[in-house]
Amino acid sequence: MRAALFDAPGQPLIIGEVEAPQPLSTDLLVKVKACGICGTDLHLAAVTDRSGGMAPLGQGSIMGHEFCGEVVEVGSQAQKSAGGSWHEGDRVCALPYIACGQCLDCLAGRGHRCAGAAYNGMGSLAGGYADYVRVGGAEALALPQGVDYQAGALVEPLAVGLHAVRAANLRPGEAVLIVGGGPIGLAVALWCRFFGARHVVISDLLAGRLDKAVAMGATDGIDASREDVIGRYKQIAGSRADVIFDCVGVTGSQQLAMDYAPMNGRVVVAGVCMRPDTVMPVKAITKELQVNYVYMYERRDFELALEMLDRARIDASAMITDVVGFDAFSAAFEGLKTPSDQCKILLDPQR
Ligand SMILES: [Zn+2]
Ligand SMILES: [Zn+2]
Repeated sequence: MRAALFDAPGQPLIIGEVEAPQPLSTDLLVKVKACGICGTDLHLAAVTDRSGGMAPLGQGSIMGHEFCGEVVEVGSQAQKSAGGSWHEGDRVCALPYIACGQCLDCLAGRGHRCAGAAYNGMGSLAGGYADYVRVGGAEALALPQGVDYQAGALVEPLAVGLHAVRAANLRPGEAVLIVGGGPIGLAVALWCRFFGARHVVISDLLAGRLDKAVAMGATDGIDASREDVIGRYKQIAGSRADVIFDCVGVTGSQQLAMDYAPMNGRVVVAGVCMRPDTVMPVKAITKELQVNYVYMYERRDFELALEMLDRARIDASAMITDVVGFDAFSAAFEGLKTPSDQCKILLDPQR
């Protein structure tokens, strides 16, 4: 099969031919129909040592954890998580790991915490930048009729956003500020709107991202490259935001989110900063801020995202800025290393 192979940190991905993965008895082999490029993959491709908490990828690793596709082979014991069998031709996405299925974390839908988990696209298990990907029968979720393959590839980033918004304990009518208009910022905006926020404002240094933010559910955008964010926010909403989401994850962004927060405000840190960072605790202490860190998602986040897409109660299609085949994939991946108006780029291996 064809796949985009990791070569070395900082080097472009190489499109090459490799053996297709062999599903074990409890697995499915899925023909990839769409796979999104995630910011995590860009981070991962740059990792040179373990100091940031991530292991460097081995040469020849296949990334990609935002995939969906068609089942082409079913292991003899592969079962759905709630029981029942998979069939060839089923359309699926999957939690991007294969876990033990029996420990308390697995039973609670948090298999990413399972001691025995291997993660698609993170080095331990091949991911979806390929013609085929191996997924666990219990980790796969059926794509409902109303969810096409492009939407199916957005379920993972939507689940990340949903998990972050759950952590905010948002109440109807509250005002939200989302720092960062990348894919996760947009997914957070969509769910804040869904759960009844009155103001859903995204700030970004790239003004070009703000239109997309509005298409995804933001009520306003702030161009942080030339506007005073706090002042502009007060103009829009009449006060500071009740909840601030850090969806950037670079050094300084956490402090910025705390600075934007009002007394007793809530800060949710969803951006993954992989360098040492400094915050000024006294600023958070004197405001008595609640600061929540969030990571990944639970199975229920995938399920709700799928159901709301199926019923057309959410539409995340504005997030997709490009769909490319293998011929253009490596260049598209390189292009995302420089922030731009590009948001979510999908690989369609059959293109
Ligand atoms: Zn992702
Ligand atoms: Zn487990």
